[in-house]
Amino acid sequence: MEQQNRPVSTARQRAAAKRKRRQKIMRNRIIFACVCLALLFLVVTLLRGLGTLIGNLTEGGSESQSQSQSQSEPVSEPETSLPAIDLTDWRLTLVNNNVAVPEGYEASLSVKVAESSTGKELAEEAADAYVSMKAAAAADGIDLLLCSGYRSVSYQEGLFANEKQEWLDKGLTEQEAYDKAKTIVAVPGYSEHNLGLAADIVTPSYQNLDEGFENTDAFKWLDEHCTEYGFILRYPNGKQDITGIIYEPWHYRYVGVENAAIIAESGLCLEEFLGQYQT
Ligand SMILES: [Zn+2]
Repeated sequence: MEQQNRPVSTARQRAAAKRKRRQKIMRNRIIFACVCLALLFLVVTLLRGLGTLIGNLTEGGSESQSQSQSQSEPVSEPETSLPAIDLTDWRLTLVNNNVAVPEGYEASLSVKVAESSTGKELAEEAADAYVSMKAAAAADGIDLLLCSGYRSVSYQEGLFANEKQEWLDKGLTEQEAYDKAKTIVAVPGYSEHNLGLAADIVTPSYQNLDEGFENTDAFKWLDEHCTEYGFILRYPNGKQDITGIIYEPWHYRYVGVENAAIIAESGLCLEEFLGQYQT
């Protein structure tokens, strides 16, 4: 019995062992396949993540690039669109309540009579321009009259001293009299008339230096044609905060024909116009 049973049981055991091995192999294969799938999934997920990250980085880069472009645009735009002018041109010399006539300016200045009836002078080039302008206006039936032109600093000093003395005589202190005189007469050296490039222009029928001049035909003619002769309206209406001077429809400033055209086109007063070129 024992000898008969043994081979049967051995065969069964072998069969069972074989089955177990197969099952084990199968299980291992399934596990291997699962691990492979899991690895594949992991790799795909990682690659996708990496792709998104790179995408974000490049997008962010182009975004900041476009941002820096849009930031630099407003700065570079006016610079490139500014008309080319010669900032060393003596005819563009700026003088106002805060900026004095440059030292040595008067010494090299050459003036001549521009209006024979009044004897008023201007810098030579400005005088010639005024004479041409007056002739052109006359041809259109308009009579221009230069009532004030070049004033030397020493002449201005005399005017200022007289004005100040009047206030001292009225009992004001030195400082009070100075401040009061300043509101009526420009401080010597700080008047555009000291340059020989400023012209107070009226017409024989209206010689008051006030806003009423604006309603004359002479003003209308000047408003239309002064730039053709190199003059600009120096103290326009609404620019008092910048020029420091009230609206003066009679006060014209010679800057030269080419500069006058550019400044008039800009719609800016001289301070604003020149200010654009300061860096
Ligand atoms: Zn003036």
